[in-house]
Amino acid sequence: MTGRLIVLTGPSGVGKGTLLKALLARHPELYLSVSATTRSPREGEVEGVHYYFYTRDRFDRMIEAGALLEWAEFAGNYYGTPIDPVRSQLVQGKSIILEIELAGARQVAKIFPDAGRIFILPPDLTTLETRIRERGTDSAEAIMRRLEQAQVEIAAQHEFEYRIVNDDFETALDELDRLVTQKN
Ligand code: 5GP
Repeated sequence: MTGRLIVLTGPSGVGKGTLLKALLARHPELYLSVSATTRSPREGEVEGVHYYFYTRDRFDRMIEAGALLEWAEFAGNYYGTPIDPVRSQLVQGKSIILEIELAGARQVAKIFPDAGRIFILPPDLTTLETRIRERGTDSAEAIMRRLEQAQVEIAAQHEFEYRIVNDDFETALDELDRLVTQKN
């Protein structure tokens, strides 16, 4: 596998994180970019593993220093991709996966037109809403914002070269595996 930049996007609650965890268990050679965010950690989230949890000040300084490949505001918080690990993975001929929302995916598509862009879809909106609510970690307001944003993202699914419906988990995982590990 040569070094490829892969962007994975899809509405909150669609199961991107679970799919990626299973993909990385199958392919330990793949590297998942760790984003910076101003949102508070959820229970069980570990600094430097799930995210770098930064203050708004520190996040702004990273933007000013040009240390983020892309960044966006999502449901009231800021999220961004540190540029250094992306560079070093690609320079070494290794692949890197970015799990980012729509605005960030659009920025990356401009900078890296060859990036593989994959969109994960829920079977339907009701299933998505149930998944977001059942996660039980977000406030009612955050849930509402995430659901609104989900509709905006789903409407943009055709901007992505590949789309996977996360209905049956194993089927979705196999499809993701095939796309990510396919030879160029
Ligand atoms: P969550 O708060 O649920 O972890 O993430 C909210 C949204 O932010 C998800 O759609 C996730 O893909 C996106 N996200 C996570 N990291 C980044 C990033 O570095 N940049 C951008 N643009 N979006 C991100």
